[in-house]
Amino acid sequence: MEFSDVEADLAEVLLTEQQIHDKIAELARHIETDYADKKVLLVGVLRGAVMVMADLARELTIPLEMDWMAVSSYGSGTQSSGVVRILKDLDTDLHDRHVLIVEDIIDSGLTLSWLRKNLATRGAASVEICALLRKPDAAKVEVDVKYAGFDIPNAFVVGYGLDYAEQYRNLRGIAILAPHVYA
Ligand code: IMP
Repeated sequence: MEFSDVEADLAEVLLTEQQIHDKIAELARHIETDYADKKVLLVGVLRGAVMVMADLARELTIPLEMDWMAVSSYGSGTQSSGVVRILKDLDTDLHDRHVLIVEDIIDSGLTLSWLRKNLATRGAASVEICALLRKPDAAKVEVDVKYAGFDIPNAFVVGYGLDYAEQYRNLRGIAILAPHVYA
């Protein structure tokens, strides 16, 4: 696919690489303060959170561990199904651990509210959430996000880890996908 084809698929750039970087640095400062005396386990949700995790982890100046989970709540469409399946579980025992879930986006909130409950049942000392993006208008369940990046409109976005049918994850910024791509 040519880069010019990608551009034609995007309706509007919502966040630039610089804006994302600045926000992640801001979130990292809060996280460092809160976890200064506890070792945090960052749990990244594959595959969308790969970029957030990579940048957030390198921005943090505290000792940390990383682990990954893969869950599925979407098919290749643009609507949340509410059905969450674990495709890959954590390798880490969560007993007495301070867990910080790192997510790209909260849409309906169904995935994260399910995930938080699931991890809390494994004996973690604490479970908090860091999400780069939030679509407040789309929320079906309230999720308490301690570290939230940007509130964005209720549109389908791609880039910086976020995909549509596995495409566009490598874009450096975040853009609204043109409706003609999925209509
Ligand atoms: P939720 O369960 O509706 O909150 O959906 C969360 C998951 O759906 C995210 O982790 C994403 O993988 C995916 N998702 C939700 N909205 C978007 C979007 O606008 N673009 C790409 N993926 C999205």
